[in-house]
Amino acid sequence: MPLCTIKIEAVVAQIVSQLDRWNIQTRRNGIITSSQGGFDFNVSGKRTIDAPDVAFTPRRKYDSLTEEQRQTFKGEPFTPTFVGTEGEEHGWNDVSGDEVLPDFTLEVWKIDQTSEPSEPGEPSLFIIKCPRCESTFNSDYLFMKHYEDVHVRKLH
Ligand SMILES: [Zn+2]
Repeated sequence: MPLCTIKIEAVVAQIVSQLDRWNIQTRRNGIITSSQGGFDFNVSGKRTIDAPDVAFTPRRKYDSLTEEQRQTFKGEPFTPTFVGTEGEEHGWNDVSGDEVLPDFTLEVWKIDQTSEPSEPGEPSLFIIKCPRCESTFNSDYLFMKHYEDVHVRKLH
């Protein structure tokens, strides 16, 4: 496995994080992998990529894999739906999911932000009331976490 710099890994982590939110919010329930996700690529007419920085495999495809495919590289080759690798010169470009990842847009400004110093989060000056239940919060982050965990991740 090639070694990656912390800067590249930070970008990959940010993309994985954005994909994960999309995966949850759209209830795709797919499988997101980062640099260490190994795939056996066999895409006709396109170049072969052994270990993409980021990949998305739909749940249906994952469920159809055999245990051998999931746990070893000996099974039939399969290909994730989406792969991304960082370009050597220009970095990541804005990516729209189109039909492959509907409603997913990679927010590059959030990636750019990871390499810049930032102020620590301020506590909110007002009380946030959850619109979906009776809970109240005095921090944006705690409210966001509550909303995602309780009202978004819930699978019904
Ligand atoms: Zn709530």
